[in-house]
Amino acid sequence: MTMETTRPSTALAQRCSLLGTETAFEVFARAKALEAQGKSIIHLHIGAPDFDTPAHIVEAGQKALRDGFHKYTPAAGLPQLREAVCADFLRHRKVEVDPANVLIAPGGKPTMYYAIMMFGEPGAEILYPNPGFPIYESVINYSGAKGVPIELSEENGFSFKAEDVLAKINPNTRLLIINTPANPTGGVVPRSEFDTLVKGLEEHPHVTILCDEIYSRLLYDNEEHVSILQYPSMVDRSIILDGWSKTWAMTGWRLGYGIWPRHLFAHAERLQINIASCANAAAQVAAVAAMEGTQEPVDAMCEAFDRRRRVIHQGLNDIPGISCVLPKGAFYAFPNVSELGLDTRELEHGLLNEAGVACLSGTSFGAFGAGYMRFSYANSEENILEGLSRVKRWLGERS
Ligand code: PLP
Repeated sequence: MTMETTRPSTALAQRCSLLGTETAFEVFARAKALEAQGKSIIHLHIGAPDFDTPAHIVEAGQKALRDGFHKYTPAAGLPQLREAVCADFLRHRKVEVDPANVLIAPGGKPTMYYAIMMFGEPGAEILYPNPGFPIYESVINYSGAKGVPIELSEENGFSFKAEDVLAKINPNTRLLIINTPANPTGGVVPRSEFDTLVKGLEEHPHVTILCDEIYSRLLYDNEEHVSILQYPSMVDRSIILDGWSKTWAMTGWRLGYGIWPRHLFAHAERLQINIASCANAAAQVAAVAAMEGTQEPVDAMCEAFDRRRRVIHQGLNDIPGISCVLPKGAFYAFPNVSELGLDTRELEHGLLNEAGVACLSGTSFGAFGAGYMRFSYANSEENILEGLSRVKRWLGERS
């Protein structure tokens, strides 16, 4: 029996056509298909650490399964994990959080979805970073709200000017999304900009802030991570998104958390009950071990990313027509390729299909990503160097 994938008479809700995607998953599928045909592909498109989850965390997950963690947990998560999140937040952000405000979710993405769907509807406006993680814009559109991009430009170190953000706020603005350190640029919002932003936001109490801090532990050169919760006036109106995917190399475990203001928590919990019930039980036990156990593997991963960051930064700048600023956080380089005079979507296709290098067009992250490409350095130095030499050769053959 064949399965019909399209039925012209099926009436889908209109909003289905509004949902975008993450091109990274599409390029991943194409790269895998090419590999299945015997082609060699260097993967520089992936937003996941290439390291395995540290062994003590895997062991804790296995033990949890042996110990009988096979059932639903409370919707908001295991109490011991919610407490571990608060202790970790205090350790790294120096901010006290009540476990009652922590909602454990199946990944970092659900917190984003819950927050945007909670505030988004026709007539509402949501400010979001552009270039930025593509799911912000996708879910904003899906909610029916108007997405208002905040341009993150190379001149501003791929951060924003607080005045520009504040100037976009109007009575319809409901939510402001910030991501620091940022995907896809590696940019970091400095404290001075946060100071000005917070002062201005105090004049706009109707705006809630969603801060995506999923890369907060991946910072280089003693760069400081600023959390919006460090500003007392923002505590009752800010949502924090973080999780285990990047810091502890746990993307496949699907676990993240949100810290919600008290008045929003019940709405988020209800969304979660409708969508997922709760997060995976054994993964939650492993996540306690991740936060409470040794942080040596995290430091070692960070050091490796730092070395690779320098390698890719230098390698990209050695290619004629490409210039790249040194990323400050996360594990992405976002080089300016505008001098090449090529359409970046065609560049993405050419590099994948002809050069055997998987990377992403900057436009996968929004219109302001035009003229840029995203290279992930979550791969070995050897593979990064090979990938760069393929890019250089392929471009050289075309000029
Ligand atoms: N936020 C940002 C900025 C990301 O880059 C990602 C993943 O790439 C996520 C959130 C989602 O994380 P998770 O895989 O835990 O859902």
